[in-house]
Amino acid sequence: MKEETLLNVIVCMQENIKENREYLSDLDREIGDGDHGINMDRGFAEVIKKMDSMKDQDLAGILKTTGMTLAFKVGGASGPLYGTAFMKASDVIKGKTEITIQDLPALLEAAIDGIQMRGKAVAGEKTMLDALMPAKEAVEKILETESDAKPVLEAMIKAAEDGAEYTKTIKATKGRASYVGERSIGHMDPGAASSAILLRSIAEVVLD
Ligand code: ADP
Ligand code: MG
Repeated sequence: MKEETLLNVIVCMQENIKENREYLSDLDREIGDGDHGINMDRGFAEVIKKMDSMKDQDLAGILKTTGMTLAFKVGGASGPLYGTAFMKASDVIKGKTEITIQDLPALLEAAIDGIQMRGKAVAGEKTMLDALMPAKEAVEKILETESDAKPVLEAMIKAAEDGAEYTKTIKATKGRASYVGERSIGHMDPGAASSAILLRSIAEVVLD
C-alpha cells in the first residue's frame, strides 16, 4: 500500500463512520451518553478537510495528521484514544514508502499500545480494545501460514467483529459505560463497534 491507497482507506473510514453514525450513537445511548457516532463522524469530517495537505505527505505523515486531528477535534474519550492509536501507528512506518501485509501486526500493536497508554484499559473491560486485540492476534496467527492480503484481512475483520459481539456479554469497567455497571451487559460497546468498522474499511479498500 502506498500513499494513494492509504488516503483511500481514510476516505473509506470516513464514509463508513458517517453511514453508521446513528448506529454508533444508538449503541452509546444504551450504556453511555449517546454521542459516539456524532463524535466519530465529526472527527473524520475534520480529517477529510485536511485531504489537500495530506496528499503531499508520506505514509507516516498521513497517519500522523489523521491521529492529531482525531485527538483534537473529537469531543469525548474516543478522540484522544483513536488519535493516539493513529499517531503510534505512524511511528511504525516512519520513513517507509510502502506498507505491506507483514506490517499489519506491528501497526495494530502500536495502535493498541497507544490506546492502553492513554486509557489504561486491558482486555475484557468492554472497550474498543476488545475488538482490536483479537484482531491483532488473528492477524499474527494467520500470517504464520498465509501471506496473501485477502485471508489475512478477512481473519482480521472476523476477529474484530466477533470481539465487538463478545462485548455484549461483559460488564464495562472503563469509560462512561462503567457508570451503569451490570446494566451494560447485553449491549455492544460502541467503541468496539467503531473499531470493527475502521478495520473493515482497510479491507474494503485493499481487497477492492
Ligand atoms: P465518551 O465516553 O466520552 O462519550 P465516546 O462515546 O466517543 O466518548 O466513546 C466511548 C468509547 O470509548 C467506549 O465505547 C469505549 O470503547 C471507548 N473507551 C472509553 N474509555 C476507554 C478506555 N479507558 N480505554 C479504551 N477505550 C475506552
Ligand atoms: Mg459517548
